[in-house]
Amino acid sequence: METHVIGFPRIGPNRELKKALESYWKGQTTEHQLKEIKNKLISENHKTQAEAGLSLITAGDFSLYDHILDMAFNLGLIPERFQKTGLQDTELYFALARGYKRENTPAQAMLKWFDTNYHYIVPEFEKKSVIKLKEKTHIEEQTELAKSNGYRVKAAIPGPITFISLSTETDICKWDFADDIIEAYQELLSRLAGKAELVQLEEPILATELTRQQKNIFQKAYDILTKAENRPPIMLTSYFGLREENTEIFFSSETEYLHIDLCRTDYRRLLSKNIPDNTKLSVGIIDGRNIWKTDLNQALGIIQKIENKLGRNRLLLSSSCSLIHVPVSLRTEHLLETYLKNSLSFAEEKCREISLLASMLEGKEDKNIIKEHQSHIKERLQHPASRIESVRKRIKELTEDMFSRTKPFEERKKIQQEYLNLPLYPTTTIGSFPQTKEIRKQRQLYKKGEISKQEYIQFIKQQINRIIKEQEQIGLDVLVHGEPERNDMVEYFAELLPGYCTTQNGWVQSYGSRCVKPPIIHGDIYRSRSLSGEWIKYAQSLTKKPVKAMLTGPVTMLKWSFVRDDLSMEEVAYQIALALRDETKEIEKEGSTIIQIDEPAIREGLPLEKAEREKYLKWAIKAFRLASSGVKDSTQIHTHMCYSDFAEIINWIAEMDADVISIEASRSKMELLKTFEEYQYPNDIGPGVYDVHSPRIPTTEEIKKLIERAAKYIKKEKLWINPDCGLKTRDWAEVIPALKNMVTAAQEMRKQ
Ligand code: GLN
Ligand code: ZN
Repeated sequence: METHVIGFPRIGPNRELKKALESYWKGQTTEHQLKEIKNKLISENHKTQAEAGLSLITAGDFSLYDHILDMAFNLGLIPERFQKTGLQDTELYFALARGYKRENTPAQAMLKWFDTNYHYIVPEFEKKSVIKLKEKTHIEEQTELAKSNGYRVKAAIPGPITFISLSTETDICKWDFADDIIEAYQELLSRLAGKAELVQLEEPILATELTRQQKNIFQKAYDILTKAENRPPIMLTSYFGLREENTEIFFSSETEYLHIDLCRTDYRRLLSKNIPDNTKLSVGIIDGRNIWKTDLNQALGIIQKIENKLGRNRLLLSSSCSLIHVPVSLRTEHLLETYLKNSLSFAEEKCREISLLASMLEGKEDKNIIKEHQSHIKERLQHPASRIESVRKRIKELTEDMFSRTKPFEERKKIQQEYLNLPLYPTTTIGSFPQTKEIRKQRQLYKKGEISKQEYIQFIKQQINRIIKEQEQIGLDVLVHGEPERNDMVEYFAELLPGYCTTQNGWVQSYGSRCVKPPIIHGDIYRSRSLSGEWIKYAQSLTKKPVKAMLTGPVTMLKWSFVRDDLSMEEVAYQIALALRDETKEIEKEGSTIIQIDEPAIREGLPLEKAEREKYLKWAIKAFRLASSGVKDSTQIHTHMCYSDFAEIINWIAEMDADVISIEASRSKMELLKTFEEYQYPNDIGPGVYDVHSPRIPTTEEIKKLIERAAKYIKKEKLWINPDCGLKTRDWAEVIPALKNMVTAAQEMRKQ
């Protein structure tokens, strides 16, 4: 029985890729050294797969930055502005992803990869584009490397339709290039003949709604590719679900193999389809999106049903999608409680689960290993932390009134203004101030036990002191404590909440060299101690100006974590919401309290499947309201949502009923506010007036212009003035002048 994974993490067990990239970019290492590390990582990935017992090794999935960027590079799709730079090879490749400063050439855009937290570089089609396959693509290189090490190889390639669909176009219709692209793929396939046992063409776009045109080109592409003579067998690969309307073009593609994500598609739906004779089916039964051990008995039951229909020799076993969405290995986790560590499965362990399952199907399994595996799963599910009666009872007893503020917004605003007495165009920030080297160093020392808790607290207080003083000097109206105690807006709270655990090394690639370390929700969540109230109280004691408290909202806490698989997301969200609600009550005091509950992840949590969106939005917004409505009417609730496409969900955003919402708006030159204007969004808005992702210091004039533009869409009485997002990645030398200009701009606007 053939076994394989769709893709393996590229970052390395200790984020070797990140380190190699960053030192290369800084000029500390050579291109040659970078390539050595790359080849080492690739070889180790292949070895890991082979040692886990997989029969096919996946090659071509490794990337120095992003696999879609690699494909654009392979196809010669280099926008003109980059061709002009004269850069070549590796330098050109990184310039596409990161921009080229010397000639002020902006990078290609970056977008979220379907509903994951991975980001891809958006290819750009322009009139002048010429599609020409690179002399030697990375896919061939990696395939040859694996073959020379004696492996049977499957080559992984982004599918042509997904590739074009995810691209953007400037002065031409990108689909005009479809024929050229298909031709290039044909050539690539022919070059892989005799080298790869099969090629995996990945078309996750099949999980989304396709236009008639997309479907037609899809059929045409696979018609041409399958008819080509000199090529390896093709595995048309869907994942993240397969939309019902796309099943026909999927099953009629005439490729030798099909892959389907059984974690997102019910196997009964699959069994109800006519799977063409002779087509082999790769079943993605091991979840590539979560970190729990698979219940192998249950998985076996499903596979046997498929086997009954198709026969064993037509089946392959696989992961649901690429494993880049889970951490690399449990080997480097030493601090997790044993029962928890035993219940987890990262990429390396998932490879082993696939082979275990194959051995079970063939009746060759080691019964003791399976027994132990299954008992580890049970142990977590039955652990006392997974079910806490008082938490369950609170959720059961939630009442309607707990999801609403007492008074409507207009009345609340009057009450709040009596206390806060804020000027027109009140100025504030989004919460974090620079996370300096010093702050990170002290936190490391504290974690290693090299400084005491007392010393650490003292240090953080000093930081808060400085942050408050700076803000007073800058002249901001609503201050913040600056979040110096937080390593990360989710992990910080996860470390304090029972029901969550955090890992030492559970990194997952977000984009390029950037990785995130999502915490894991394994049990019932509740608030057992103060989360940040102490710091806020301290900050408020230092100033007469109002200090806005910061919390991370329930949906973001959930979406940026790995979630337990034995309780609905809705219920988990309410548990977190109640913990936050308890915290708001600690923060709240008589009079002028402002609390911001950040929810940047609400929009990105939107399910790919349209039919599921409403259900999700309903509980997501309810969770926010549960967290935020336990306060007095005099308490002002803010939310911050970063950059989102609000058009489709504006009614739900209004439903959140935050007194003030802040959003990223400077790069869209306030265009984003149109949606709010058209909807007649009722509450107050703080559109970001400068880009925090750039080190550039905005001038007073340009900020004023943006405020004037904002005031065209939104009544000035409703506007707040703030940067786009938190300032944690900036230096103080940038933050102080930028905020001063922002405050001056607001002051001058008040005079008009
Ligand atoms: N309060 C957080 C900060 O200022 C918000 C970050 C975010 O929205 N991603 O850093
Ligand atoms: Zn933000």
